[in-house]
Amino acid sequence: QLKGKTALVTGSTSGIGLGIARALAAQGANILFNGFGDAGEIEKLQAGVAGEFGVRTAYHNADMSKPAEIEAMMAFAAEKFGGIDVLVNNAGIQHVANVDEFPVEKWDAIIAINLSSAFHTSRLALPRMKAQNWGRIINLASVHGLVGSAGKSAYVAAKHGLVGLTKVTALETAQTGVTANAICPGFVLTPLVQKQVDARASADGLSNEAAKKALLSEKQPSADFVTPEQLGELAVFLCSDAAAQVRGAAWNMDGGWAAQ
Ligand code: NAD
Repeated sequence: QLKGKTALVTGSTSGIGLGIARALAAQGANILFNGFGDAGEIEKLQAGVAGEFGVRTAYHNADMSKPAEIEAMMAFAAEKFGGIDVLVNNAGIQHVANVDEFPVEKWDAIIAINLSSAFHTSRLALPRMKAQNWGRIINLASVHGLVGSAGKSAYVAAKHGLVGLTKVTALETAQTGVTANAICPGFVLTPLVQKQVDARASADGLSNEAAKKALLSEKQPSADFVTPEQLGELAVFLCSDAAAQVRGAAWNMDGGWAAQ
């Protein structure tokens, strides 16, 4: 379905981004990986996906908090693949603290990585998508793009902002073959959430399993984690022809979190 197309998935060396990159590669898309990690491991990851799915892969180490590095990555994508057809803005970080104790540099980093980076990649990817009259922009927001949680001011602000950016991008491309949508996951057990599990375990003297249950039971009615594979399949659907009129949606996959 995506044969001959190229997908950039930011933050795809781990977690949800990796799950989405694998799902798009399974549909035949070439993958430009991005994110931090051990160079040898990333090399293996790229070769593994290329071999498993018979697609071309590449990697760029742009720090998504730095617009100049994002520009360099997009130039690299143009040179290597002729440009980006599917843009998945997934890189993101979390920090938990109340507003009056929130470290200023963490606020700035979260806004830069979780929100502004999607503006930069989108502004650089859109001219080609519009010119060829086909493109897919998928912004990994969060259920925190729809509702708030105490302690997550920067994250919730960035994710609400990302849902807003998604709507505007969708409107500006509404009469083209380019669509823009947001995906809003609940808890997914990735390194980002394991940190919150660890914090909960040590604060309340709980085992890892008990801390997972405690975290889920507060917010996620299914009491089960969403998986990167499930999110990958949602991204594949948003890339399909059947989703051509899904525009500006903030689509939750959250075990019922936002239904409460
Ligand atoms: P993760 O920590 O497993 O992966 C984050 C990825 O982003 C990694 O590849 C990391 O290297 C990369 N990254 C971090 N900072 C970067 C930077 N400055 N430049 C480039 N890459 C950078 O996290 P995850 O849980 O897979 O999260 C992926 C996205 O999904 C994030 O936007 C997150 O907010 C969102 N999300 C996660 C959950 C969850 O429960 N895990 C829920 C909703 C939304």
